[in-house]
Amino acid sequence: MPTHHIAVLPGDGIGPEIVAEAVKVLQRLSKDGLDLQLEFADVGGAAYAKHGHPLPEATLALAKKADAVLFGAVGDWKYDNLERHLRPEQAILGLRKHLGLFANLRPAICYAELAAASSLKPELVGGLDILIVRELTGDIYFGQPRGRRTASDGHFPGSEEGFDTMRYSRPEIERIAHVAFQAARKRGKKVTSVDKANVLETSQLWREVVTQVAQQYPDVQLDHMYVDNAAMQLVKAPKSFDVIVTGNLFGDILSDEAAMLTGSIGMLPSASLDANNKGLFEPSHGSAPDIAGQGVANPLATILSAAMLLRYSLGQPQAADRIGAAVQRVLADGLRTPDIYAPGTTKVGTAQMGDAVVRAMG
Ligand code: NAD
Repeated sequence: MPTHHIAVLPGDGIGPEIVAEAVKVLQRLSKDGLDLQLEFADVGGAAYAKHGHPLPEATLALAKKADAVLFGAVGDWKYDNLERHLRPEQAILGLRKHLGLFANLRPAICYAELAAASSLKPELVGGLDILIVRELTGDIYFGQPRGRRTASDGHFPGSEEGFDTMRYSRPEIERIAHVAFQAARKRGKKVTSVDKANVLETSQLWREVVTQVAQQYPDVQLDHMYVDNAAMQLVKAPKSFDVIVTGNLFGDILSDEAAMLTGSIGMLPSASLDANNKGLFEPSHGSAPDIAGQGVANPLATILSAAMLLRYSLGQPQAADRIGAAVQRVLADGLRTPDIYAPGTTKVGTAQMGDAVVRAMG
């Protein structure tokens, strides 16, 4: 059995607390024979405090060498006044860039036991399990030219204007479409491609290319939806989706909307993958400095991120399923960290929740 090298980057705020629980879960798998080598490194504000940079060379080298990266969270109010390139959040942007992580996978899962925490009716979200695949390195966020200038035309010639460029190349669309179709094959075999092809040239190319890629996946059903309709359908009938694939801008907005359907940000994992399925896995939430050090943070998003790491980067779907089932069991047993607590359930802290998941793994 090969040795799997995992770079573990806990970061700031609640990062170290929640990552410690995910590490317990990985160590439980090691006990059963999965050969996992975990190596730790500083990142974010913690790295700046020790080494003067949020993404030190040694951390980047470790992340590059590893088969996958388990990431906690970065950011703390005390670093808010640093120059932009030294701020903790730059670490995550640097890792995405240097590791070529172009595909962001964010599942929105609503466990039946937590359906009451959603702002939607429980019957609409209970059992929800959708996956948003967002392109992460292109689109209007990175397209050139961009900037400010004096308008030479438009509604107010001669006035100051800001402008950005939405662009996607055929290979960029092809590779994200492949990620979505391959993910759908492992799930409900349905992809909804979201665009604004009725208005945007970029979206027309997007739709054309996704349709062409779909021909290589005859077992997966493809449909197309305009982004405004997708935003509506997500709150009207979220369970009608399986995998949603979309560009950087639309994905940014829709993935946050989908996350909120589930009621708790503390439950949602995420993955950012390169072309070879190597990835960085992290909870969808931030470093929560308001509750750091209190032992009350929900570690489940990070534990579920470790499960995604096993599934997508290490090719260990059974180990991933084992973690998912254990999380489901502790929720069914009524254990809740404060963020998901409801009367009638049992309130537990971060470490107790992690220990309970390990016990539930058998
Ligand atoms: P946040 O996600 O850290 O917190 C938002 C709210 O959710 C807070 O009330 C927090 O207590 C709560 N929360 C978050 N995770 C939780 C968990 N696991 N258990 C229980 N409650 C949880 O977002 P924010 O407050 O806007 O940002 C705080 C810091 O995190 C900032 O410095 C920001 O830049 C950073 N951030 C980092 C990442 C990342 O590392 N990828 C992502 C988003 C924000």
